[in-house]
Amino acid sequence: MAGNRIGTSDEGQAHTLPNPRQPGQVREEAALNEGIGCRKVTGPEPPAVPGPKIRTRRRAARQSPSYRSPMTNWKQKMEEALAEASQAPAHGDVPVGAVLVDPQGRTLASDHNRREEAQDPTAHAEMLVLSQAARQTGRWRLEGHTLVVTLEPCPMCAGAAVAARIKRLVYGAADLKTGAAWSLYNLPQDPRLNHHIEIVSGMLEEECSILLVDFFKNNLR
Ligand code: ZN
Repeated sequence: MAGNRIGTSDEGQAHTLPNPRQPGQVREEAALNEGIGCRKVTGPEPPAVPGPKIRTRRRAARQSPSYRSPMTNWKQKMEEALAEASQAPAHGDVPVGAVLVDPQGRTLASDHNRREEAQDPTAHAEMLVLSQAARQTGRWRLEGHTLVVTLEPCPMCAGAAVAARIKRLVYGAADLKTGAAWSLYNLPQDPRLNHHIEIVSGMLEEECSILLVDFFKNNLR
């Protein structure tokens, strides 16, 4: 069961998903921001939206200055998230872990899924670290922060990440059943929303998937 939920890919290669906004949409957004209203932008038809382009980590490294920063070692941050995830089965929870990284590259909060433990449908790892970070900074706006999570966020968590105005989402395994950061929806990059998030997917994907597959295997016995 678990195996079907989790996407496979090319050996932990991270992909950066492009923002699908088009020129016409940007103009519409600008109009909305200026309070002009929801008038449809007239003029030539914008070009068709290109399909998803998957960039390899090496290519992204050339294009994204953040990759060159010693502060943004996403693999190391994913290892921290994996360490969190591995604690969840002790209380019967699906092993998903998350860390919230501040703009200086420091881990501000880390936690794992506690839905069963807390009997709380919102106690997903991502929600817990976003709340922890907001408490620590005293601000609900987490601009410049990065959410690192072992599994592609669900609609609730992807929505919360947009609401928190984070800069970047880094995730490991894709969740083909409920993923809302590419698989079913792409909420963090929906051009209709007022904030957009850079996505890096497939970070230590294999390690993240194995943890989940083992958990479901053991729990189906
Ligand atoms: Zn979630």
